[in-house]
Amino acid sequence: MTTHHRDTLAIHAGTPPERPGGQVATPISLTTTWVHGPAAELPHGYEYVREGSPLHSQFEEACAALEGGGCALSFASGAAVATALMQAQEPGAHVLLPTECYMQIRELARDYFPRWGMTSTIVDMCDLGAIRAAWTPATRVVWIETPSNPQMSVTDIAAVTALARERGAVTIVDNTFATPILQQPFTLGADVVTHSATKYIGGHSDVHGGVAVFARDGAFVRQMLRLRTVTGGVMAPFNVWLALRGLRTLPVRVRRHSENALAVAAWLSSHPRVQTVRYPWLPSHPQYAIAQRQMSGGGGMLSIDVAGSRGDAVAVVGRVRLFTPATSLGGVESLIEHRASIEGAFTSAPPTLLRLSVGLEHPDDLIADLDQALRG
Ligand SMILES: *Cc1c(COP(=O)(O)O)cnc(C)c1O
Repeated sequence: MTTHHRDTLAIHAGTPPERPGGQVATPISLTTTWVHGPAAELPHGYEYVREGSPLHSQFEEACAALEGGGCALSFASGAAVATALMQAQEPGAHVLLPTECYMQIRELARDYFPRWGMTSTIVDMCDLGAIRAAWTPATRVVWIETPSNPQMSVTDIAAVTALARERGAVTIVDNTFATPILQQPFTLGADVVTHSATKYIGGHSDVHGGVAVFARDGAFVRQMLRLRTVTGGVMAPFNVWLALRGLRTLPVRVRRHSENALAVAAWLSSHPRVQTVRYPWLPSHPQYAIAQRQMSGGGGMLSIDVAGSRGDAVAVVGRVRLFTPATSLGGVESLIEHRASIEGAFTSAPPTLLRLSVGLEHPDDLIADLDQALRG
């Protein structure tokens, strides 16, 4: 199976050879407990849902196959994945986080790391010199998010993983924006790849979940499984079923998201009311060369600076008709948000920045909607 193309793996990976009752579609089971022997022997391999279920295993196998990793563990959300990865570190561990790190991870580092005896430094992951300068003897983890949210900066994964490996730290790559269809961090040296399955994997804005994929099985994976069982951040069976269903169409959706976003980004680049367009597949992007090397498409996310003030940017969101003003990303429908308003006091987003999740509508309709919203 692992020799198949990613498109084929997306459709078939994780499907057990024996399909119960000959069912073609993945059956859903909501059971929380399995029949065991008189002394709690496990003839069916599963005991209690907090420890996992056949459906969880199928989803995890499919995620591992798509990323080209050794194994995977699903969690209740992308945030639960990040939390478990940090809680699995030894006390005293120092973590390098990117300038544009997902908001909840920034909060986790600021408010909870001290309680766990951990420290962190925020560093520009596009600057190897800055990473070296921030390194301490206690540095154990380098966290990469590329393309970043919302400024779409691109980190050279191979360069950072090489540096981390040489110094004995692990590299974790949040691959939520790019997905394994456009970017394969394991081929670039990453140790762990994470996803908010709430986004492109689910793909329909109706399921909350997360997954960590590991380059190889081992003691750290067992520690993560133990943490999941003890702390209980387990994905609900129905959510696993929805996420697996979404994953089956990930390759076709992501390619179309990418095509649409490129069309929208290119059009926005010459709009008089737009000051900046940030999209990795535009030659004007500061890390265009790296993006071309490590990705196979620009993805469905982009951000712009509206010419004028914060108020002008907010007004554009107030005028869209086809785009929906909402946070999150990766669903079939296009979303737009004024990022600084979403992130609040600690935002690093420029006040005129709008973040767009470009959906699967026809790009001409999306462009027409943005045009009328920008012109006002
Ligand atoms: C949404 C998101 C997360 C957090 O995931 P949840 O499923 O909302 O907990 C983490 N990283 C990125 C890049 C995200 O977009």
